[in-house]
Amino acid sequence: MSTIAFIGLGIMGSPMAVHLQRAGHQVQGFNRTPAKADRLREAGGTACQSIADAVRGAQVIALMLPDSPDVEEVLLGADGVLANAEPDSLIIDFSTIRPDVSRNLAQLAVARGLRMIDAPVSGGQAGAENATLSIMVGGATDDVASAADILSVVGKTVVHVGGPGAGQTVKAANQLIVAGNIQVLAEAIALLKAHDVPLEQALDALAGGLAGSTVLTQKRENMIRGTFEPGFRIALHHKDLGIVTDTARAMGVVTPVGSLLASLMASAVANGDGGCDHSALLRGVERLNGRIPDPC
Ligand code: NAD
Repeated sequence: MSTIAFIGLGIMGSPMAVHLQRAGHQVQGFNRTPAKADRLREAGGTACQSIADAVRGAQVIALMLPDSPDVEEVLLGADGVLANAEPDSLIIDFSTIRPDVSRNLAQLAVARGLRMIDAPVSGGQAGAENATLSIMVGGATDDVASAADILSVVGKTVVHVGGPGAGQTVKAANQLIVAGNIQVLAEAIALLKAHDVPLEQALDALAGGLAGSTVLTQKRENMIRGTFEPGFRIALHHKDLGIVTDTARAMGVVTPVGSLLASLMASAVANGDGGCDHSALLRGVERLNGRIPDPC
């Protein structure tokens, strides 16, 4: 069993840290908003006051932060992980960030005598709460192997997809697929509503056929009720579609639907929906159809 520093105890990080603590590891959590560490403390973990406190004595340092600049700040800041970590610690970055930033950070970690893998996750808040995440892992084979016991605590599907940054590239593909699924589900719901078809029955039928999906199963209730508590914030999916368009452009890959989805997600942010769950793409479809939804 390891001592694990867990930095970033939000919607995803908090339940993941709790699962690791309950599995027998000693988890030392740190979050910028200290109250977010309450759940970990109630599960027997430690709430630390700084990154330096969290990484002291830790063999593993897990990160679950919003965006690339947050991970850069936590790793490279004057009081950050690289300045304070024990020699040979393994950094597991569960955050979704840019693949090029991830590769660069892994190199800097190695130069400092540490090891780093990228391990972004899919499965949503439900996947984090139920420890059933799918984890796409990039890094050196030995480093990935040494993380296996920890990854299997929070994930059901754990796949080593390549070298440093490769996990983030797969996650970008994941976010493209999920955004497309949500958008077409929202358009289908607008169509069904306009024809006064009972939504529960319609979605039951769709779920049993080729149109069925994890997105439909997890997001249908939000869309039926019109309540969009995150979940996964639109602002984060907007960040991810920026990664999709940038990584596609970097290799000359054409993703026309991806570009459209990026615009629709940006429109949701521009209309004030950045703090809502990404199922609130339905609200954008409603706006396109001349309806003004209530604030979410
Ligand atoms: P969140 O905003 O709920 O959690 C992030 C946490 O990091 C917050 O509690 C915040 O206070 C903390 N934080 C930010 N900067 C910090 C710093 N410098 N030091 C310490 N703590 C800091 O976000 P989330 O939904 O948990 O998402 C985290 C990551 O996981 C993102 O990259 C997101 O894209 C990805 N992700 C989210 C979901 C989901 O369904 N929510 C699913 C898969 C992947």
